[in-house]
Amino acid sequence: MAELLESSGGLSLLYRGVRIGLDPRGCSEFDLAFVSHAHSDHLPRKRCKAIASEETLALAKARGIELEPAELDGVRLVETGHILGSRGLLVDETYFTGDLGGRPRAFMGGARPVKCRRLIVEATYGREDYVFPPLKELLHKVNSLISELYSKGVPVILMGYPLGKAQVLMSLFSKWGPGYAHPTVLKYNEVYKKFGIRLPDLEPYQEAERKGRLNMGPWILFAPLMSGRNPWVARMKRDYGAVTIGFSGWAVKEGYRYAMKLDYAFPLSDHPDFNELVEFVKRCEPEEVYTVYGYSVEFARHLRRLGFEAKPLVPGQGRLG
Ligand SMILES: [Zn+2]
Repeated sequence: MAELLESSGGLSLLYRGVRIGLDPRGCSEFDLAFVSHAHSDHLPRKRCKAIASEETLALAKARGIELEPAELDGVRLVETGHILGSRGLLVDETYFTGDLGGRPRAFMGGARPVKCRRLIVEATYGREDYVFPPLKELLHKVNSLISELYSKGVPVILMGYPLGKAQVLMSLFSKWGPGYAHPTVLKYNEVYKKFGIRLPDLEPYQEAERKGRLNMGPWILFAPLMSGRNPWVARMKRDYGAVTIGFSGWAVKEGYRYAMKLDYAFPLSDHPDFNELVEFVKRCEPEEVYTVYGYSVEFARHLRRLGFEAKPLVPGQGRLG
């Protein structure tokens, strides 16, 4: 198996003399980087030689990070269903997932388990109390809510992470209109469309506002997830009486809505919930598991109770063997 290393630069694999950084923030220590997807906490901060999907290269560019595409014999990229272009890295019986997607939603499929000896798995929602409701149930609730608000002439702002979640939301709620979008979301739509994802054509909200359209009846606006304290959100509420609906896995907890000062919040996530994570690990049939991100300590403990050799990776612990 490839050697798994940990250093101040992050996790890496030593494979046939090549040191591959796993979603590193910088590349100076590594021969090349593996970039699982284009969320900012997984992207290098500067130009890097990187193994990544075409979609990730394009999305990184949209974020202002130029990655130099690299290839390496013997490595395989595996669809993870988290956002457009997200992939895990399978090399020499080690599978590093990056972030995983959970259940299929809109145009996104779920994460694909891969048989491996060593699994390095994300554990964002790796605690037993993070279990999400079925998508169908959630859609029913949200559509009923929007319907009720529309019947009173109230406009709605649907909020989610601008890369990934916002595009899923647009696809799931495209039947509501007229639809507008925040520019932060629109810049990623272009890349999604380039790779064949069908998304509704939404006008930037500023244009609609300039034409006076936001004063006319209910509408739906797709925006990044922002706190109700944000001045833009406060203005939309004050000027148009808009209601905010946020989407995040953290919304499983009542406190999330209050902390974010959202009118409504629903647990729709681009990550697996706890049960889906456990199922994913089982189906990979690994001999050893390392958990990263989120509830990594709790999740490793749970996996040990299930009989897996599992441990959380804590940065700075040095060589892991
Ligand atoms: Zn992510």
